[in-house]
Amino acid sequence: MTTIRAAVLPATGAPLEVTEVELAPPGPGEVLVRLHASGVCHSDLNAIDGTAETRCPAVLGHEGAGVVEAVGAGTVLASGTHVALSWMPACGRCEECARDLPHLCRTAWSAMAKGGLLDGTTRLSREGQPIYHYSLLSTFAERAVVPERSCIPIPDDVPFPVAGLLGCAVTTGIGAVWNTAGVRPADRVAVFGCGGVGLSALLGAVTAGADPIVAVDVSPDKLSIAAELGATATVVATDRPEETAEHVRDLTAGGVDCAIEATGRPDVARAAFLSTRARGAAVLVGIPRVDAEVSFPALSFPRMERRVLGSIYGSSRAERDVPKIIGLYRRGSLPLDRLISHRLPLDGVQEAFGLMGSGAAIRVVLDLNGSG
Ligand SMILES: [Zn+2]
Ligand SMILES: [Zn+2]
Repeated sequence: MTTIRAAVLPATGAPLEVTEVELAPPGPGEVLVRLHASGVCHSDLNAIDGTAETRCPAVLGHEGAGVVEAVGAGTVLASGTHVALSWMPACGRCEECARDLPHLCRTAWSAMAKGGLLDGTTRLSREGQPIYHYSLLSTFAERAVVPERSCIPIPDDVPFPVAGLLGCAVTTGIGAVWNTAGVRPADRVAVFGCGGVGLSALLGAVTAGADPIVAVDVSPDKLSIAAELGATATVVATDRPEETAEHVRDLTAGGVDCAIEATGRPDVARAAFLSTRARGAAVLVGIPRVDAEVSFPALSFPRMERRVLGSIYGSSRAERDVPKIIGLYRRGSLPLDRLISHRLPLDGVQEAFGLMGSGAAIRVVLDLNGSG
């Protein structure tokens, strides 16, 4: 057992508590990672406020990066390897994996729901009582024991704060454009919601050669960042989806091929859908409340062949897509550093959620064990 500091969610709705917990050594197929950075994601907030049911007490955090420090039986990763962590360690054997849908791996999703690692048990505890993992990772901590399959080796020159975003926000946003929508050069794209995922989608659209690219948000500050990152036009969203969509259609000669929804709000999903042209697709990425429903004008489907596509984790295969993303980052084509608006120590985790809630943050990164 190792004693580590970690941010524990004691119960749904309670404040996070930064405290010492015990971490057991890695079991078969697992590795111990000394964490250097963790992104703070809206899904963590969903776990705290109960939007998504989460087994407690839990150590939250599901995007991070660090260095492999120890390995369990049957692993091939070497100690000292720099890794980005993915919350989707696809098994490669279930029906969804066999259908080439590793991001929907049944084995990993069902293990995740139970709050353990892949074998259903937890490596975290406090005073002999179990503490559960979040998304098989729990990165709001100095160290984590994770499935080896969650580790994506990265070059040593990729800064940990950037690498820490690869396992969720960046791959979710870029993958929605590259994989789910299959955006091609000169396709018209709109991105609704300019937080970490939305701006990642915007960068994905830029690298795919989309044109025009319209950014939509309620915050003029976020829209000016979107413009710097490659949006060709921006729209300040109103609370009327029809009005926002009309504005986007006016800017894009009648509508977009692909409208990425990155807020999880039903009215924004409607605005995204209504902003598409014939055969265009709204790509729903944001996580809505469990009881949320969206309505779309039905005639649009047969009359215009408008489509709605769901997208989780950018329909990505992390071990394939993360190296592609890193390659473009190292060439200077993907300014992922710009997504990091704030950096805080582990003790600042509660403040991180305050920044997120106020709309001031794009992505907050926690510096753990000193970042590079
Ligand atoms: Zn996330
Ligand atoms: Zn699987």
